[in-house]
Amino acid sequence: MVKRIEEMYLRFVLTKRCPFKCYFCHREGDAESPGFELSREVVIEAVRVAMSLGIYSFKFTGGEPLEYEGLADVIAEIKSICPSAEISFTTNGLYLERDLVKLIEAGIDRANVSLQSLDRKKNEEIVGVDSFDEVMRGIELLSKFKTDSKIVTAFSKRNEDEILDMARFAKRLGLGFRVHAVLPALPIAEPDVIPIEEIEERISRFPGAVRRIIEVNGKHRLLFTGPDWEILVPDWRHWKRCGMASCPLNDNVKKVCKEGEVFALRITPSEVQTCLMRNKKNFPFEKVGDIREALTSACKLVAVTS
Ligand code: SF4
Repeated sequence: MVKRIEEMYLRFVLTKRCPFKCYFCHREGDAESPGFELSREVVIEAVRVAMSLGIYSFKFTGGEPLEYEGLADVIAEIKSICPSAEISFTTNGLYLERDLVKLIEAGIDRANVSLQSLDRKKNEEIVGVDSFDEVMRGIELLSKFKTDSKIVTAFSKRNEDEILDMARFAKRLGLGFRVHAVLPALPIAEPDVIPIEEIEERISRFPGAVRRIIEVNGKHRLLFTGPDWEILVPDWRHWKRCGMASCPLNDNVKKVCKEGEVFALRITPSEVQTCLMRNKKNFPFEKVGDIREALTSACKLVAVTS
């Protein structure tokens, strides 16, 4: 089954640079960072091609996208091409306080901020650097401007005891709260992994939890609500096995990976990707002029146009 093109979004891996060292980081499927960054020309050309194909939703990621020089200018340029384009970014939160106002002025619609623990020491152990104060100040600022934004946490054995407190914290700030399972893409992460089925089961045991299926940006999610908290979880039950024999991920991840469930096309400095882990589903480009062909081929593989 393939998606309708309107449901797709384009995800830009702007840079591989990131000052954090999260133990579970898979660097968008490319742990061997070549150090290249996406050029502004590539981003803008890809946006123009995407719009001509019917995609109007864009997300900036990395690495840490706020490491990318000129992000606000790129956002402003996209908004000048199409004011109704939806633009968001993921961030580790370190530079949020520094950059948020100018990103909002440029036209950003929302952000997902990673936070792994409300405990300074534990957060540092998970992300590898002492960043707690900066991230918390960034989150607080974000809550004043963009309540459509979310705190995102990788649910694992390292922080499962805090998930309810984190959900309450997000709710108090008027932010959404989403958890996902740590991907055991790296052997070091495996001992901490909690399978997605188990995450769902554990959340449903929280006092007063009510479970519903909702649609967020075209994707099914489980929404658990309690007296003073809300948690969004990917609705993995609608997803099926991808079946790629050589997939480097283990069974937990394969269950939530299916080529027909691709929602995002990922643009790296050298290719358009339809799967984090599957090279043969990628479409390389060598110059800005090749992006149209690469993006169009990727769209044909995973989406239908109306
Ligand atoms: S913040 Fe994101 S990109 Fe940076 S190390 Fe952590 S998971 Fe990786």
